Amino acid sequence: GSWSSSDSVISTDSSGEPTGGSPIRVVLLGANGVGKKSFASIFAGASDGMDSEDCELYGGERMLTIEVDGETATIILLNTWDTEDEWALEHSMQTGDAYLLLYSITDRASFLRASELRITLRRHRPAQHTPIILVGNKCDLVRCREVSVSEGRACAAVFDCKFIETSAAMQHNVWEAFHGIVRQLRLRRDSKEA
Ligand code: GDP
Repeated sequence: GSWSSSDSVISTDSSGEPTGGSPIRVVLLGANGVGKKSFASIFAGASDGMDSEDCELYGGERMLTIEVDGETATIILLNTWDTEDEWALEHSMQTGDAYLLLYSITDRASFLRASELRITLRRHRPAQHTPIILVGNKCDLVRCREVSVSEGRACAAVFDCKFIETSAAMQHNVWEAFHGIVRQLRLRRDSKEA
């Protein structure tokens, strides 16, 4: 089933120390209503059923260690619900290691907003080293689709980021998006080491 990726969720050290190397601070960006809170609750929910209780950090941020390609990685999901709030947006653009840039495939305005956010992000993060994935969420709502897969892919190509379509409602591809972030960071790390 689509929830099978949760098998790869391992643990969060009860001391609050990451078990998978230095934690990756991931920020969810996107217009209101695209599914950021839904993403976050899937992320938080993954730790329920496990014997680790201590994955909630100050300010309600969540930390989780997952396994990607046989290697563990620790992710801290930062809270940035209100991306219309200038200050919160500025702050998140300065503190993240990686970004999931969400839009809803049923809402063209949110797609345009994602492009704006990408441009703002590039201003804050001119370096090529910051992993960014453009995420077209709500792909279960096929009849309400306003943004095609090829438009999403083309936009990601223009903005030099990866692309994935997800459904938080169906829990489809949500973990793949987090895995994609980890893989991108590793690629960068490995190319630096080489
Ligand atoms: P946020 O404002 O970006 O945090 O968006 P929310 O996570 O609050 O989601 C807004 C609304 O869209 C809620 O009613 C969600 O249940 C719904 N929603 C989020 N993701 C999906 C999805 O993948 N498919 C469908 N059908 N609805 C979704």
